Amino acid sequence: MIIVWFKLMMTMVLMVFSVTEGTLFNVLNDMLYRSQPEVESVAHGRVSAGSLGQGKRLPTKGANFESYSQLGSLMGRTYVHSKVHDVMLAAYDSLNSAYPEQRFVFAETGWAAGGSFRPHRTHQNGLSVDFVVPVQKVEDESSGMLYCTMLNLWCYGESFPSDDAKFSINFDMLAAHLVALHKSAQKEGVEIEQVILAPDLHKHVFSTKDGEYIRKNMTFMKRKAWVRHDDHYHVDFKIVD
Ligand SMILES: [Zn+2]
Repeated sequence: MIIVWFKLMMTMVLMVFSVTEGTLFNVLNDMLYRSQPEVESVAHGRVSAGSLGQGKRLPTKGANFESYSQLGSLMGRTYVHSKVHDVMLAAYDSLNSAYPEQRFVFAETGWAAGGSFRPHRTHQNGLSVDFVVPVQKVEDESSGMLYCTMLNLWCYGESFPSDDAKFSINFDMLAAHLVALHKSAQKEGVEIEQVILAPDLHKHVFSTKDGEYIRKNMTFMKRKAWVRHDDHYHVDFKIVD
């Protein structure tokens, strides 16, 4: 009972925090976002041993998407290669036309100059992005969104499938997002090198209406990653021209 009350209190504190301080974080991050020069980034090395020149800060939110953490974004944990930035935003834009009700959340990406990005093992050259899984309410399958706070380790502490969860993964939206990323990437001269999602969840992605397209056009890592990718999916991009 005490734990329930503690969680409730913490949730309320964090909600107030997100409405007040969070707004300030938003404003500051977006000022920094808008003041960036329009230059193309340069990815050096590999996602597991690399660096990034002229990294591009992501905005805190847009019409149908937001960052996992306003503070995380302000602290500089959501920089990417400029072309990955363009691909991400174009994909969200196309999804907004097709699924205006759906909200998407991106998670950690990397530092402005790349390099070691704890606790991640990759994310070193601006080409790796974590996306929080889109979810739906278990009770009626209506669309929902995971609220990322300290209590769930900014969404990295969620577990799917889970017997007592309010939400389940919305694989249709996850698949639609992957297709939108792939199509936007093609226009920008970018490839999707691989997608990392827990292997037992692949079949659910492949059985959606976009599953065939995904199976033909994208590579999923078949072995288990060092942490279970069930609350987020990791995408490694590759710059081709
Ligand atoms: Zn990752």
